[in-house]
Amino acid sequence: MYPQLLTYLLQFIKYQDQMIRTLQTLLIGKNMFEKPLEEPVNKPYRKLQVDDLPIIETVKKFDYKLLLNEYLEEHGKVLKPVQRRSNAKATVPKTMNCPQCGAPSDYLYANNGDKGQFQCKVCSCLFSDKNRFSKEAILKCPHCAKTLDKIKERKDFSVYKCRNNDCSYYRKKLKTMSKKEKKRFKKDPQAFKLRYIFRQFHIDFRPLSKRSFELPKVDLSRIYASPHVLGLILTYHVNYGLSARKTAAIMQDVHGVAISHQTILNYENSVALLLKPYVDHYPYELSDQFCGDETYIRVNGKWHYLFFFFDAVKKIILSYPVSPNRDTVTAIRAIDEVLVKMQDIPKDLTFVVDGNPIYLLAQHFFAQNDIKFDVKQVIGLTNEDPISTEYRPLKQIIERLNRTFKGNYRSTHGFGSEHGSVSYVTLFVAYFNFLRPHASLEGKVPVVNTALSGLPTMPARWTKLIDLAQHWIVQQRLA
Ligand SMILES: [Zn+2]
Ligand SMILES: [Zn+2]
Repeated sequence: MYPQLLTYLLQFIKYQDQMIRTLQTLLIGKNMFEKPLEEPVNKPYRKLQVDDLPIIETVKKFDYKLLLNEYLEEHGKVLKPVQRRSNAKATVPKTMNCPQCGAPSDYLYANNGDKGQFQCKVCSCLFSDKNRFSKEAILKCPHCAKTLDKIKERKDFSVYKCRNNDCSYYRKKLKTMSKKEKKRFKKDPQAFKLRYIFRQFHIDFRPLSKRSFELPKVDLSRIYASPHVLGLILTYHVNYGLSARKTAAIMQDVHGVAISHQTILNYENSVALLLKPYVDHYPYELSDQFCGDETYIRVNGKWHYLFFFFDAVKKIILSYPVSPNRDTVTAIRAIDEVLVKMQDIPKDLTFVVDGNPIYLLAQHFFAQNDIKFDVKQVIGLTNEDPISTEYRPLKQIIERLNRTFKGNYRSTHGFGSEHGSVSYVTLFVAYFNFLRPHASLEGKVPVVNTALSGLPTMPARWTKLIDLAQHWIVQQRLA
């Protein structure tokens, strides 16, 4: 008798506590009990202008074999490879060769090795690992044809500038400045961009390359739950955004199924692995308007960025990389994930994004790879400029998507691992694209599939979706 009464009383106290919190929240108007989020600061970005591409002149190349032959004819003896003292501090990597004549590492001096300079014994070319590329090509200003100077070295790119005072670009910019601007320019020259700038990326990334992906080896038979139970779990946790613990409690209390929240997470991990290739390679029908945004999620106690890119018209999420950095490389990856899903790249392709310059850098990167698209930046909270006014509705669509996601993700209390968070994001995307009816699509789901929509309940649709993904994988294996 006693323990039962105690349990009852404890539950009553919990209920009262909940009640007090709810009432207080209603009174104050906001949730007082959620910890304040120490979210990363979103600094306003200075506008960044992307200039035309420079003139790229390839440097005259030599062939070290011909040069060695010439040497032999001229001197009557062979040019010997570099003699290295055994105690030499500086070494030349075996894979290194001369950027100008292609001579192998045996002919390279480690010139002042600590600073990473090398010299070729065959053609006397001086180079370092970093400026190798400039030995392969010379960059010239498209406005005055003078060679550009490298002014900055960043993690993902180098910045080149035209320093020519007679450059037409510079002259024109100077002329258009007002008196006031000129005054400010004298005090703070950094605030103005008057000279031609080019960014050269050194990112090892090939756009539109067919990524080889491994078909997951997921054995769902190891899941000791019926498909229906799995469908219920996914519905509660993903569709309704209940926490894994609450989902476990509902499974026990409502459905009489004993399952731990950890088991739920493990099962979902397997399902996500299985669904991911299907979601990523589905032949989506797309429009030419896309928007992108970043939102932050906690992974392992640290802030990570989730980049969402989606079709603004069809409401299909196409790309969702998670990265610890809000950087150009991730922006490039995110956009590329969208591009690979297109049969052809539309002529009027437009990406609507926030004011973060990483998207302009990404645009620049793709332009350098002959992939052209427009980037419209919606900056700040007010409609300061016409572009922001025109494209704000699109931006709001993706902000709504972010809110939907965060609403569901919050309940997960962040993930203990990057793996787990990617799993949840994948499941959310599968749900969003294939299962979630959308008001602006007249209550239809973004990807209409009669095999799914014909089913009466959500757990049944999840089961069917898993089924479709499994079939797809089998077909890929046979193909
Ligand atoms: Zn050489
Ligand atoms: Zn110039």
